[in-house]
Amino acid sequence: MTYLISGGAGFVGSHLTEALLERGEQVIILDDLSTGSIENIRHLRLNRRLRTVIESVMDRRLLAELVDESDVVLHLAAAVGVRRIIESPVRTIETNVKGTELVLEAAAKKQKLVFIASTSEVYGKNAKTPFKEDDDTIWGATTKSRWSYAASKALDEFLALAYWKEKKLPVVIGRLFNTVGPRQTGRYGMVLPTFVSQALEGSPLTVFGTGKQSRCFGYVGDVVEAILRLVSTQTAVGEVVNIGNDTEISIGDLALLVKDRTGSNSPVRFIPYDEAYEPGFEDMTRRVPCLDKLLRLTGFRPSTPLSAIIDKVITHQSAKASQTALVRHSEVGFVESAQSV
Ligand code: UDP
Repeated sequence: MTYLISGGAGFVGSHLTEALLERGEQVIILDDLSTGSIENIRHLRLNRRLRTVIESVMDRRLLAELVDESDVVLHLAAAVGVRRIIESPVRTIETNVKGTELVLEAAAKKQKLVFIASTSEVYGKNAKTPFKEDDDTIWGATTKSRWSYAASKALDEFLALAYWKEKKLPVVIGRLFNTVGPRQTGRYGMVLPTFVSQALEGSPLTVFGTGKQSRCFGYVGDVVEAILRLVSTQTAVGEVVNIGNDTEISIGDLALLVKDRTGSNSPVRFIPYDEAYEPGFEDMTRRVPCLDKLLRLTGFRPSTPLSAIIDKVITHQSAKASQTALVRHSEVGFVESAQSV
């Protein structure tokens, strides 16, 4: 089978690519490297079953050609990270809405199965726990730019479901809940990679708000497994499915856990939301997925414990830091062998 992965050089996309290649499948990555990175897929570059195309999903003709060559389309290309959404709202809305529209249009011409990566952000401020896929969405005012992400992703879901209903295009929608693991960068504001790098550097761990808000963190390897099972499950077609782990932790406790796993002496610094994001910023207090539907459809339930995930992130970041140190040394003429670093 050939899988086209838009956003394949991103954090989740690169893990999906790796898993598919390990299973003997063919993969075409389509990524414009706006938030993805060649670093994420460098270790796969010699695999003959991988083709990488550095272009935007907005290139309609190219997209049509690549969809033609594929059996399944995994659409992950999207604007990511709350900070980026606040800083670049135009790009967020355009990438999320137009990109998905073009992918669905191209897939519909050839009736190719499409997986749309959506987000738990769609549930918005609904205080209910856990979130079930058919629960109401509750967003804030349009003047608060954070909600443009939820609205743009919800529109993607509406459009995908409409393609299924009206044109019988097979679609599966996954709502991802705070996916974490190696290769995720803190550059776009995500909390776990940020805390780990702060702890490793010995700088303060920046907890926004009171730190009492909570999240459930799903391991990227589990998320990949869930996605691949969903796209090979006939009864998942036309469905919206939560994907994540349902063990909840407050952000304040996450900071303490990261300190504990890294053995860091970094202090924890509380920063008001207004300062961390923008005046009037609204956060979600809790966000817990109900995983019954995922389990019923696929027989799978993500369960990698958070401490194990944090250890993997620490290992990854430490290895990356040593590599960077090696490059810096060689740049200034202190060329040393990899063993000695
Ligand atoms: N957060 C934090 N410090 C950081 C980055 C994020 O306290 O350096 C908080 C953020 O305000 C939110 C939670 O951690 O309450 C998760 O943030 P993230 O951006 O990772 O994902 P979100 O759930 O907001 O999409």
